[in-house]
Amino acid sequence: MRVAIGGAGISGAYAYRCLAEQGIEADLFDKVKNVRCRLRPCAWGFAPSSEYEHLVSKFLEPGEYILEHFDSIVVNGVTVRSDMVTVDKPKLVHDLIGEGKVTREPLPTASYDRVIDATGIERAFLPPVVGPEFLVDCYQRRVRSEKRMPLSFTSSKYGYEWCFPVGGDEYHLGYGSLEEQVNGFSRLPKDGDGISTICACASKIRLTSPHYSTPLISEGKFVGIGESVGAVGPLAGDGNIYAMQCGEMLMASWDDLEGYQAKVLDTYDWMRKERKALEKLWAGKGLSLRDARTFLQHSKRVGMEISVAQVIDLFRRAF
Ligand SMILES: Cc1cc2nc3c(=O)[nH]c(=O)nc-3n(C[C@H](O)[C@H](O)[C@H](O)COP(=O)(O)OP(=O)(O)OC[C@H]3O[C@@H](n4cnc5c(N)ncnc54)[C@H](O)[C@@H]3O)c2cc1C
Repeated sequence: MRVAIGGAGISGAYAYRCLAEQGIEADLFDKVKNVRCRLRPCAWGFAPSSEYEHLVSKFLEPGEYILEHFDSIVVNGVTVRSDMVTVDKPKLVHDLIGEGKVTREPLPTASYDRVIDATGIERAFLPPVVGPEFLVDCYQRRVRSEKRMPLSFTSSKYGYEWCFPVGGDEYHLGYGSLEEQVNGFSRLPKDGDGISTICACASKIRLTSPHYSTPLISEGKFVGIGESVGAVGPLAGDGNIYAMQCGEMLMASWDDLEGYQAKVLDTYDWMRKERKALEKLWAGKGLSLRDARTFLQHSKRVGMEISVAQVIDLFRRAF
């Protein structure tokens, strides 16, 4: 069977390594990238740390990529328990691919028996999703700061913003919004204020969720993993761990793509519920206790301890 993977981001690289370990050769394709960090989106937060370690330790030494480990996060000004690591994602992706070659040309799908769509928001090889998409515009800067800043996540009427320490005096500062115009965000520190920007980029996150991103497979040959099938937490925008988990699930059902689709939809059913809550918020309605509980369960899963009142405050401010 000739196998190709379209997209050499975190999901494509992880699936490539899973296949290689099973003795299945795959050709990797990606676009030419002109970003400083060689990877876009350069999103480097992974939670919980135990799942990061479980997934990466199958092939590599997880500690080699950890920049910082956090046991707390400041959410809307309040410090709560968390379990997150920031990771050198470009190096991790590079090492997962190892000696493999990434072809920077269009993927000739007709030459392959199986094509794995790992193209993130492009979803280049699967049919378009049926229902409305939730694509969040994000803007992110990598900065150097004279002052130590904590790991933080803050919401406001513009959406949400984050500060992720990524080792030494460097940080990722960013914000995301469902509004088309996200330039209104102004509370993040600016250059000159003890801060200097190293690089900046804009990108989107797909918050559509797998349930609303069907089909995850097509023509018995195309199969999606990671963000191409919406494997992203709709309320927090975290996708790195799920991008790798999809590769694991695909390997477990390599000869049963229908089974793979069913497994993804079942595993990430909580994303369907979060997406529903997101729809309500977007329509200007408040979160019910049940919606808040859905998010609380997700927070727990990623090692964060947050109260119902904090969840409601977080989303009330953002919408
Ligand atoms: C600004 C920002 C911050 C984020 N922060 C976090 C975070 O802190 N923690 C977290 O868990 N998640 C975060 N996310 C989400 C996370 O980055 C994604 O969910 C995750 O990267 C998805 O992995 P992926 O491999 O499926 O897709 P991607 O990482 O998007 O990789 C897709 C790859 O496919 C390539 N490609 C696209 N089209 C084609 C084509 N036609 N042919 C070949 N290749 C193609 C792209 O060049 C890219 O390399 C963030 C996202 C953004 C935008």
